[in-house]
Amino acid sequence: MVDSQHDVIVVGGGIAGCFAAATAAAEGVDVVQLERKPREEGGFIACGDAIKSPRNPTNYPGPIDMDAVANDESVLIDNNIDQIEWWDEDLGVRKVLPYQNGSNVIDRYEFGQRLLEQAADHGVEQHYDTVVNEVVQDGRVTGVKAIRDGEPVTYECDVLIDTAGAQSILQDMVDFEALDTPAEPTFEVPHYTHFGSAYREIIETEEPVDYHNAIVGKPLEEMGYIWYFPRTPTQINVGLGFQMNKEPIPLADRLRRDVENRPEFRGANVAERFDRKNKLGSAIALRRPLDSMVAPGYLTAGGAAGTTHPITGKGIRGAAYSGYSAGRAAALAVEDGDVSEAGLWEHNRWLYREHGEAAKLASWDAYNVAASSIDVSVLRAVTALLPEKELREIVGTSTEVDGLKSKLLVGAGVLRNFATETRKGTFDELGVDRTELYEAVLGLKRTRDYVSEYERRYEAYPAERSSFERWRSERDRLDREFYDALELSPDERKY
Ligand SMILES: Cc1cc2nc3c(=O)[nH]c(=O)nc-3n(C[C@H](O)[C@H](O)[C@H](O)COP(=O)(O)OP(=O)(O)OC[C@H]3O[C@@H](n4cnc5c(N)ncnc54)[C@H](O)[C@@H]3O)c2cc1C
Repeated sequence: MVDSQHDVIVVGGGIAGCFAAATAAAEGVDVVQLERKPREEGGFIACGDAIKSPRNPTNYPGPIDMDAVANDESVLIDNNIDQIEWWDEDLGVRKVLPYQNGSNVIDRYEFGQRLLEQAADHGVEQHYDTVVNEVVQDGRVTGVKAIRDGEPVTYECDVLIDTAGAQSILQDMVDFEALDTPAEPTFEVPHYTHFGSAYREIIETEEPVDYHNAIVGKPLEEMGYIWYFPRTPTQINVGLGFQMNKEPIPLADRLRRDVENRPEFRGANVAERFDRKNKLGSAIALRRPLDSMVAPGYLTAGGAAGTTHPITGKGIRGAAYSGYSAGRAAALAVEDGDVSEAGLWEHNRWLYREHGEAAKLASWDAYNVAASSIDVSVLRAVTALLPEKELREIVGTSTEVDGLKSKLLVGAGVLRNFATETRKGTFDELGVDRTELYEAVLGLKRTRDYVSEYERRYEAYPAERSSFERWRSERDRLDREFYDALELSPDERKY
C-alpha cells in the first residue's frame, strides 16, 4: 500500500537535502523530505564547522536565504578567521597562509536547523524519525519504503533525490543495472576507498587560544590531518580524519592523545549537546564528484555525490550548490514529464559545465591521487618545501589561481625552500631519502600539468546524455596517462 505520493522525495535533512528540497518546492513541485533523526536533532552532524564565504551567492545558489542564515548570531559564531596555518611541529614548520576570501566558523547544528526551517517555509513537507530502508524501482526508481515513528510506510514519487550523505546507503539499495537506460547506466556506485573517516569533538578551554583567528591543520601518521578550528577563542572544534585506502587509525584515541599533550587544552572539557558529550564521527567523500549523478527517477547530491573537496574534505559548499542543482533538475524533469537519465541530465550539465565547480573538484582530485602515492614522511617533507602560494592553491583557498599558473614561480619557490630546509636538516629529521623527495616534487609538478589537462577535459563535459560514453573514454585515457606518469601499479590506481 502506498501511504504517501509526491512529485519529489528528498532523503536526508542535511545541507544538500535542504537545498534540494527548498529549490524543488520553490519551483512549484510537491516535495517530501525524509530524515531519520528527530526534528530537534536535525543538523546535528559531524563537521569541522568551517564554511566558505556564506554570503557569496555563487557558492550558495537558490531560494535558501544565506544572508539571513549568516546574519544569525547563533550560526556565524566566528567571523574573524583570516588565516590558515599548517603546523608540522616535529619539523619546526609553521606555514601561515592569509585567508582573505571569507572563511567562517559556524555552529553547524544551528546552521542545520535554520536550513530545515527555511526548507519548511518554502513548502517542503518534512517527516522526521523516518529511516529509509528500501528503494522501490520498476524500470526507474519509483519510491522508497521507510520506518516512520516505528511504523512501516511506503512513499511513491516521480524523482528520488538521494542526499543521505557520504557512503549513502540508498546507493546500495538501488539495482542500477536493472533500470531502463539506453546503454550501460552512467551512474556508478563509488568504492569505499574513495572515502575518509573523520571524527571531531567540541572542547572548551580555560584560556583563549592564541590562534583564534586561524584554522589550523597538522599532519597525521597516515595521509590525513588533525585540525583545530576555533569557534570562539575558548571553544575549539578539534578533529581528525584519514582516507580509507590507508591503514585505519583509532580516531577518538588518537585525538585524545594529541589534545592531552597540548598546554592550551589543559583542563579543557568536551562541550555537551542534548545532555551528551559533543563528539561525532562520520564518513567523508575524498574523491572526484561522480561522473554522472543521475539514473532513471534518481538524482544524488552532496556527500553522496562526492562534491567534497578531495584534499581538505570540506563539503558544505559542494552540498549546497549540488543540492540546489538536484532540486532544480528534478523540478524541470517533473514539469517536462521526463525523468529518464536524459531527462535528468541537466543536473550533471549544470554542475560540470555551467556552475563549473564540480569540474574544478574533479581536476584537483589529481592532487589526492598523487599525494596518496607518496610515503607520508616524504609528503610531509614536500609540504615543508612547497611555497605557500602553491599550498594555498591546493587547499583551494587561493583567489589568484590564474596568476599562479606560472610553473616557473612555483619551481623557483620549491628550489629555494629545498636549500633552506636542507640547511635546517628537515629531511634528516624525517629520515627521508633526497632522491625519493626529489622524485616526489617532480611528481607533484607533473600533477600540476595534469590538473590543467583534467580541467580542459571537464570543460568539455557533455551537455547531453548521448555524448557521455565518448567523453568518459577520453577522460579515462587521461587517467591512464596520469597513472603511468606517476608509475602507479594497477592496484594503486584510484579509479
Ligand atoms: C568530522 C567531519 C568534519 C568535517 N568538517 C568540515 C568542515 O569543516 N567544513 C566543510 O565544509 N565540510 C566538512 N565536512 C564535510 C561536510 O560535513 C559534508 O560534506 C556535508 O555535511 C555533506 O552534506 P550532505 O547534506 O551531503 O550530507 P549530511 O550532512 O551527511 O546529511 C545526510 C543526512 O541524511 C540523513 N540520512 C542518512 N541516511 C538516511 C536514511 N536511510 N533515512 C533517512 N535519513 C537518512 C542523515 O541523518 C543526515 O541528516 C566534515 C565532515 C566530517 C565527517
